[in-house]
Amino acid sequence: MIDAHIHIFPTYRSKKAVEWIKRYIPEINVSETLAEEEIIETLSSHGISYFFNYVYPLKPEESRSLNQFNYELSKKANNAICFGSVHPGNADRVEIVREALLEFGLVGIKFHPFVQRFKVLDERMEEIYDLLEKLNRPVIFHTGFERFYKMRLAPEEIETIAQRHPGLVIVVVHMFYPRIDRAFELVKKYENIYLDATNIFSCYGEPASGENLFEATFLPEENAYRIYFHHSVEELEKYSHRVMFGSDYPVAMNDLDKIYACMRSFDISVTAKENIMEKTAKNFVNRFKPGFFGSDA
Ligand SMILES: [Zn+2]
Repeated sequence: MIDAHIHIFPTYRSKKAVEWIKRYIPEINVSETLAEEEIIETLSSHGISYFFNYVYPLKPEESRSLNQFNYELSKKANNAICFGSVHPGNADRVEIVREALLEFGLVGIKFHPFVQRFKVLDERMEEIYDLLEKLNRPVIFHTGFERFYKMRLAPEEIETIAQRHPGLVIVVVHMFYPRIDRAFELVKKYENIYLDATNIFSCYGEPASGENLFEATFLPEENAYRIYFHHSVEELEKYSHRVMFGSDYPVAMNDLDKIYACMRSFDISVTAKENIMEKTAKNFVNRFKPGFFGSDA
């Protein structure tokens, strides 16, 4: 199984990130001082053969060192599929992206527009999208959970990028949760759009007395709010070759074993599940880095 969404960060960032998620979900069992080796070991012991690692800078000064960090991780862990990032505030953003992809060999560029505080249609982003399209490398966007982040990224904004850059591969992380329907509309219309189902299959639950910050659905029979795939399973089957799955570990919404159990027990065909849990991610990587998996591709 491939976990297509992991966040191994340098310690100065990961400690803060774990503290942050535990403020909102105190019951998750993860340490603030988790070392990268421990994360890699935990993933292996949970049956993960490969994982995608995402970093993103909070300030422009961090961009290069984070890309360097992910480059070093990719050299140390041969099952780490590492992505770069950049900040729109970097004057040399195009050079940074070029270095990340061509010198560090990172697969694509991930953005978290809410935490990085920019709009995806910001004109400084255009030259980055142009370069990614030209080099045939993917752009990955955090989407959804807008009540929690108090920020907005409308599906129409992603659609505008897809229209301006028909050759650009775009990953919609979290499927605009809770607007999963809008994510599937885009997948149907644009064949270069992929979905990342991270957090949707997390079995996250919160008691009825909670704040419901994550816009979970209230289920009277459980007397709780729950995040789940509240969309057509037929569509998930039909487009499973463009849906990947990940955990967000170590800043996941639930314990890792519960997240994986949630995905494994989801009631869909074996073929669709294989796609979502492994094949889509593998084909995705092969599209940009042919031969990455060696003979087991
Ligand atoms: Zn994430």
